Amino acid sequence: MIVFDLHCEHGHRFEGWFKSSSDYEEQKTRGLVTCPECATDAVSKAPMAPAVPAKGNSKPDRALASRPEQQSAPGEGKAVTNAPPPAEVQKAMEALAKAQAKALENSTYVGKNFVKEAREMHYGERDEAPIHGQASLEEAKELAEEGVPVAPLPFPVAPPDKLN
Ligand SMILES: [Zn+2]
Repeated sequence: MIVFDLHCEHGHRFEGWFKSSSDYEEQKTRGLVTCPECATDAVSKAPMAPAVPAKGNSKPDRALASRPEQQSAPGEGKAVTNAPPPAEVQKAMEALAKAQAKALENSTYVGKNFVKEAREMHYGERDEAPIHGQASLEEAKELAEEGVPVAPLPFPVAPPDKLN
């Protein structure tokens, strides 16, 4: 069975099911294909309809339809865009950045010494104090495996002496 989108001379659209394309032609010449609304047999095949409902909002969502191939496989890098972020996102980022700054208010920036100092604190070789700094993903993993508390910061941190 195949389905055709049909429309009559009055613009009514409907679907017709046929055994084949030639079955449609045959039924049509015999006047058997009629519009369910006005019963005229002056019907013809509608141009291929897009896969959206004919009623209501019929604006085809081209943006969605043309995207899928552009998705990269996971693990191919970070998700990035050069589109300007919407205002809400920018606001949320600013709020998050402020929250991070607040959380780090009493924390000392130790830069590349983070891994060493965090480890020393963990093993009681130095007094515990909140610190933040830089660690590679590998280093952070090692710390976590040793049970040293370490968490990624959503925003990069700059050494305080470089802020001005
Ligand atoms: Zn009709």
